[in-house]
Amino acid sequence: MNDATTTTTLPADFASRWVTAMLTTVLGSAAKTHHGAADSLGELDRQSGDGDFGTNLTSAFTRVPGEIESTSPTTYAQWLTAVSRGFPGTGGTSGPLFGMFFRDLARCTTASTPALTELAQGLQNGLATVQRYGKAEVGHKTMVDAIAPAAETLAAQADAGADAVTALQAATAAAMDGARSTRDIIARRGRASYVGEVSRGVLDPGAAAVAIMVACAAASAASSDDAVDVSWIGS
Ligand code: ADP
Ligand code: MG
Repeated sequence: MNDATTTTTLPADFASRWVTAMLTTVLGSAAKTHHGAADSLGELDRQSGDGDFGTNLTSAFTRVPGEIESTSPTTYAQWLTAVSRGFPGTGGTSGPLFGMFFRDLARCTTASTPALTELAQGLQNGLATVQRYGKAEVGHKTMVDAIAPAAETLAAQADAGADAVTALQAATAAAMDGARSTRDIIARRGRASYVGEVSRGVLDPGAAAVAIMVACAAASAASSDDAVDVSWIGS
């Protein structure tokens, strides 16, 4: 059956679109018509941590085009592997965690494009790995606060047979709510945990970054070229 309005299948170019959208959203457009989210995310880490998050994320994503050039990815696994390879060697706690997170996402399928259920499983595997190494629970003001609700929502949507765009939009909303929930709590993990009460009132940059990455996936599932909204992060 092929229903144009409801499809659980991701478009064939989902992975290339997702990676490209993350690069543009995090780093800004090449023409500098818009700033990358890395600037605002770095500002959050300056307010509540040690200030290196924006630089860490920028250096990781800046390495990705070189990975793409040298590996000429065609499958989903190859595209996501190019992203995961940008992260090792990046400073901070988030670098290795994001590297492993994207490696798990890359491994969710051997098909050229994942089924929604496979993508949901990849997200759950990524969450498990991040928690195994980082020892953060929901409520510790980390990327886990966005990954966990996104993974749970995507799995529930996929199991219910929701269409891919709806499912990824619901996962985006869950990740954004999770990221927003970090504003009112103090950090228990990472270097933001050293500043205690100072981190209260500031969004966790890692959680906000995850919400943006999931939003890029939703836009890519919808084959949208519109810029992903990052204004909610603040500046
Ligand atoms: P650091 O905290 O070492 O300076 P970064 O600035 O690179 O690391 O990244 C900060 C982000 O990493 C935080 O916003 C948080 O989301 C995430 N993070 C830090 N520690 C952990 C952890 N133990 N588990 C999961 N995520 C973490
Ligand atoms: Mg930091």
